[in-house]
Amino acid sequence: ILATGGTIAGTAASGTQAGYASGQVSVEAMIDAVPGIRALADVRGEQVANVGSQDMTFAIMIELANRINALLADDAVNGVVVTHGTDTMEETAYFLNLTVKSKKPVVLTGAMRPATAVSADGPLNLYNAVAVAADSAAADRGVVVVMNDWIHGAHSLTKTNTTSVETFLSPINGLIGTVNYGKTQYFRRPFRRNTDTSEFSVASVTALPRVDILYACADMPADLIACSVSRGARGIVIAGDGNGNMNAATIESASRAAGTGIVVVRSSRVPTGRVSRNVEIDDDRFNFVVSDELNPAKARILLMLALLKDRSREALQQLYYAY
Ligand code: ASP
Repeated sequence: ILATGGTIAGTAASGTQAGYASGQVSVEAMIDAVPGIRALADVRGEQVANVGSQDMTFAIMIELANRINALLADDAVNGVVVTHGTDTMEETAYFLNLTVKSKKPVVLTGAMRPATAVSADGPLNLYNAVAVAADSAAADRGVVVVMNDWIHGAHSLTKTNTTSVETFLSPINGLIGTVNYGKTQYFRRPFRRNTDTSEFSVASVTALPRVDILYACADMPADLIACSVSRGARGIVIAGDGNGNMNAATIESASRAAGTGIVVVRSSRVPTGRVSRNVEIDDDRFNFVVSDELNPAKARILLMLALLKDRSREALQQLYYAY
């Protein structure tokens, strides 16, 4: 169990207050708070970080990926659980889905309520996550997230509610499976490339290229594009309206940037659905890429990893269909 912090390791002064601090409890204390967990597996804890996931960094994600790869290369290790804050859990899950090189189970889990809360959800989530990581039937399903009895794929899940324990949904592809007090059931495997079939590696990477996300809205100021470019962005993901749209002024600035080699990816601020090429925006003419099913945060991660190597726009577009 690799611990990184989050609400699952959070504490508050009382069991019913909304205010709390993330990332306070150690991994050993978290394990000790879960009755029966040591009967599921021979668990060992490591503290990789102890932050609220709003403070998650790519340095920590790279360290996690490399540590998971080292652990899973050991025959004595059957699976890994990562405890993580829920705010950016989908980003780390997707990053690991692209950079872990093993079919063995890798399971992220967390909590919506701090460890000290009435009805804290962390202990059962951790119990279920260990049950999935110890289950050989969970292998070869990519990196998964176990929260609230559900097993989500890294590609499909997204956080949908600021406070509810039923916050994660997999709206387009559905669940990988369910887990109920450690009893697992599986429905499908991810059909996108992941883990051992992914071409991405961070084994010798220390930093990733800058990619910014710009949120489209009515009367969006077009100079945000130039601002990102001037700050060194090599890619820009537009969290577009609807099917990845943006206003005419932003299309013009974005296409100018795309003409100078900045990669512009159209994603959507809408929670579900694909962004498709050449619908209301002529991607062929403007040299844009579409994110297909990836939301802006995950589209950014794929582009950051993709930009570690020179690739044509066409090759980048194909990555969004493959991953
Ligand atoms: N802000 C917290 C975090 O992401 C929320 C949580 O874990 O539920 O670390």
